[in-house]
Order: sequence, then C-alpha cells, then structure tokens
Amino acid sequence: MTSDSVNWEAVRADFPILHQEVRGNPLIYFDSAASSQKPRQVIDALTRYYEHDNANVHRGLHELSSRATDAFEAARNKVAKFLNAASADEIIFTRGTTEGINLVAQAYGTRYVKEGDAILLTEMEHHSNLVPWQLLAERTGASLRFVPVLEDGTLDLSKLPELLTPEVKIFSFTHISNSLGTVNPVADLCRAARAVGAISVVDAAQSAGHLPVDVQALGCDFLALSGHKMCAPTGIGALYGRAEVLEKTPPYHGGGEMIVSVSLHKSTYKEAPHRFEAGTPNIAGAVGLGAAVDYLESIGRQNIAAHDGELVRYAQQRMEADVPGIRIIGPRDRSGLVGFVMESAHPHDLTTYADRYGLALRGGHHCNQPLMKKFKLPGTSRASFYFYNTKEEIDRMITILQEAARFFS
Ligand code: PLP
Repeated sequence: MTSDSVNWEAVRADFPILHQEVRGNPLIYFDSAASSQKPRQVIDALTRYYEHDNANVHRGLHELSSRATDAFEAARNKVAKFLNAASADEIIFTRGTTEGINLVAQAYGTRYVKEGDAILLTEMEHHSNLVPWQLLAERTGASLRFVPVLEDGTLDLSKLPELLTPEVKIFSFTHISNSLGTVNPVADLCRAARAVGAISVVDAAQSAGHLPVDVQALGCDFLALSGHKMCAPTGIGALYGRAEVLEKTPPYHGGGEMIVSVSLHKSTYKEAPHRFEAGTPNIAGAVGLGAAVDYLESIGRQNIAAHDGELVRYAQQRMEADVPGIRIIGPRDRSGLVGFVMESAHPHDLTTYADRYGLALRGGHHCNQPLMKKFKLPGTSRASFYFYNTKEEIDRMITILQEAARFFS
C-alpha cells in the first residue's frame, strides 16, 4: 500500500506549529503518540465556534444555544460515521480514553462484575487500561488476569483458551501498544470474548487517528479514543458503546443534562448517550473533534496508515543500519512508533540530549510500568510519527542519535 495520491507537503503546511525552530534548530516533532499537533482547519473551527456560536447546549431556547447544540450533535454524528457506529446514540463524549475506560469500569463494571468473576487484560496495557480495572477488582472482589506478552512484543494468544473462561465478564485490551507499536488482532479478540459471554473493551487511543477503525467490523462492545491524539484539542474524546450494552448500563456521573425528571428523593434518566454526559460538556472540544474527523477523512485513513507505515519502516531500517548500540523493542511489524534503548544512555538522558537539537522524543516508562518491568528496562526512548512527518526529519534524527551514541560512549 502506498500513499502517493496525497500531497504530503501541502498537508504538512496545514500545521502551523511545525514550522518553527527549537533551540536554534528546526523542530522535529516525534511525540505524536503522546499528543498530536493540530491543523489550521481544527484551530479555525474552534475560533469560529467561539466567535459565532458559543452558548450552552440542549438547554436554551435562543438562537446561539440551538446553533451550539447543532454543532455539538453534528460532531457526534461525524464521530459515529468515522467509527462506522450503527447510530450516533452509541457515541458518548468524554475527556479522552482514560475517562472512557473509567466510565465502562464504573458504570458497567460495578453493575455486572461480582466476586468470583474475572477481568481479562493484557500485559501491554497503558495504566489507563489497568488502574480502572484494579479499582473495580478491589471494589467487587473480582480477579484480574493477563494475556502474556512474548519476547517479540506480541501477545501470547496460545494462552487465551485457559485465560478467557466463562468467569471472565470483561476483556479489555489495547488496539495498538503505545510502547511496542504492536497491532493486536482486535476482531479475533472481540469474537473470543463474545464466545464466553464477556464484553470487549478496546483502547483505541493509538489507533483511531492512524488506521480505519470500524466498530461493527471489529465486533467490539466498547471502544475508547482520545481526540488530542488525532488532531483534535485536548480534553475531548469519545466512547463508543454498542446500543444493546449501553441500554443496560446505568449512569456514571449524576447532574444536569442526564435526567428526565428530578424530585428530592428520586430521579429518572435519559437514554444513551445523554445519560452518560452529566453537566455542561466540552462543546468547543467536540466541535474541534468533528473538524479533526473531517480533516482526517479528507486525507483518508488508508493513506495515513500507509504513510505512517513508510515512515516507521524507514526509521527502523536506518536506526538498525546506521546507529551503533541501539536496540529496538517490539515487533518488526508495527504501527507508527519505534521504542528503543541506546545501550550507553538512560532514556531520560538520551531524550534530553535530543531536545537540545530540537528533536522531541519521549523517554521513560510511557505509562507502561509492568511492561517495562517484564522487559527488564528502566524505560525506553520513543520516536512516534504521524502523517505530517517526513523522511528528512528521520534522517536528521539519525544524525542526532549517531552524535548521541558518540557522546554517551
Ligand atoms: N491508552 C493508550 C494506549 C495510550 O497511549 C494513552 C495515552 O498515551 C491512553 C490510553 C490514555 O489516553 P488519555 O491520556 O488521552 O486519556
């Protein structure tokens, strides 16, 4: 698959922040797995919203309130289409992946998980897809189980039959590992969960903006994403919930917007998704997420995935061939990020060194402490790419890493 049909230079020009110097060098932003940059189209949508339409949603009987409500609900429709949800009612706006997973753990988990049940995770989960389940297990007396990670950074699926038994009520796993770049076989895992009567929860923080994600084809019950990792503002995300599962999930937060009627001792609640959106939502954020979805669709996620793939293969090949003392962690076949260690330097020192030259990497445990422990690493350095990056930037990174290898030896 190639991405030749897109003018990538023009795409890059959409991102004002990329065209600056940092410490006297052109910025090389290789930290998009932590947070992506925003195109002018998204920034403009936010400005337009605040300059023309800003008001509270669903409450007012005036023009601006109905415009804000229309914009907010239009964004929900866009996200639903983006994920191929059967209906926009299956899309709940959240602050991000972390909140989406906590919502499932708190609302669905508290109602349906009991002592003696099990929650199945994997050893490669981000803390956001681990700690909420630990809290649920503590509250309910359920146990946690983990699909092991093999040396090559893939899941040991041979262990699935003994782990995914009828005691498992929830199987929650990441689509793409934020440290290893592993792309998990989501549809197979969701099918396996359903076969034992468990619901599936997909952490799509690293995948939603990078490759086509079709919740119906994947067959998942819940899927959580973060807007800021896919060109949208911070503080907005979405949780997809399959209608049948959402219907039987009780509310999470209580407050305005999520009720039908309230008396002093009892309230009744709206249907999904409004039942899960108490209080004034991040309206501008949702508008920004809608604009980001439009933007990503205009490029095409197949094209984005192909371009990411070209960059990551090039980076891997050059790092292995041209930088002494580097070890890449994770499978060869990976999404758009490379986690690595330089034998002579701690990841924090290497990342700080790179910053001196305007190269933004990430160093540390990447909210994957158990995984780092498993690989007996203090952490890794991570270069993560998005479609606005170039091979020339990778060449510059290689030169900086070569100099670092000399500096630290
Ligand atoms: N899951 C994965 C795989 C991630 O990489 C991240 C963020 O790095 C998260 C969850 C948490 O996302 P957020 O902090 O946007 O809620």
